[in-house]
Amino acid sequence: MNTLTNADLHCHSVISDGTLAPEVLAQRAKANGVELWALTDHDELGGQDRAIEAARQIGLPYLTGTEISVTFAGVTVHIVGLGMDHQNTALLDGLRATRGGREARAREMSDDLARVGIKGVYEGALKYVGNPELISRSHFARYLVEAGVCKDVSEVFRKYITEGKPGYVPHRWANLRDAVGWITGAGGVAVIAHPGRYKFTPSEEYALFSEFKAHGGQGVEVMTGAHGQADYAKYAGFCQEFGLAASRGSDFHSPEESHTDLGQLPDLPGSVTPVWTLLASRVL
Ligand code: AMP
Ligand code: MN
Ligand code: MN
Ligand code: MN
Repeated sequence: MNTLTNADLHCHSVISDGTLAPEVLAQRAKANGVELWALTDHDELGGQDRAIEAARQIGLPYLTGTEISVTFAGVTVHIVGLGMDHQNTALLDGLRATRGGREARAREMSDDLARVGIKGVYEGALKYVGNPELISRSHFARYLVEAGVCKDVSEVFRKYITEGKPGYVPHRWANLRDAVGWITGAGGVAVIAHPGRYKFTPSEEYALFSEFKAHGGQGVEVMTGAHGQADYAKYAGFCQEFGLAASRGSDFHSPEESHTDLGQLPDLPGSVTPVWTLLASRVL
């Protein structure tokens, strides 16, 4: 546990908004040299048994995972949970409640797109949904590419379905205290996902890290597909400042869409404590 470097503790399957099955991700992780893997579907644990079994069959050490959608200071923040008991009732109930508003939100997103002349997007997005409880903006993006509205999903997220653009519907997700509590209450470690992506002022970001820590959060992603060199250095510094362990995860969703593949990130800097050193007893 202390010598491994190629941990990939953040990715998505068809159980949320990834395009590959848990078994295919396990194979891909192994082929890419991943030494410790976690599947972290959004607000879901429905892929965990399949990921555990697939990893076991190929001798790939595995941590259970999820990525919880949270609203903090009016902004959507993602909290990754690692090493939980994936049958914990309070965690399962909390995730179910967090998923609850997605269907209504999707219909409203589609109605809003229809107002700018883009029709039938709800029905179109459904073709890409692997889990009826988890319709996501990614599924909308895939359909808008198929329909020829945009050339790729990044163009969709520049022109539509983000704040201030057609098809955006604000949503209230879980609160930070609850999300961290569900994870730690199930024996897991909570990690702030891709902090470099949030548009916080420095004081809001300080509040996020302080409150997260006060609620029992223990980690932050330093190496993620969403970060560049400056973020690596900044959040390694935050690890020292806030006494947090560092995580590493590609956030891989799809071979066609993701620029960082499983297991392909640079190693964590030597100055930080890898989050997996806190999770040795939780590895399957
Ligand atoms: P949702 O949870 O339905 O709001 O969808 C959020 C998901 O949209 C994220 O987990 C990403 O997979 C995807 N996403 C958000 N912003 C972008 C972007 N700029 N480019 C590509 N995918 C994005
Ligand atoms: Mn996603
Ligand atoms: Mn995320
Ligand atoms: Mn993610």
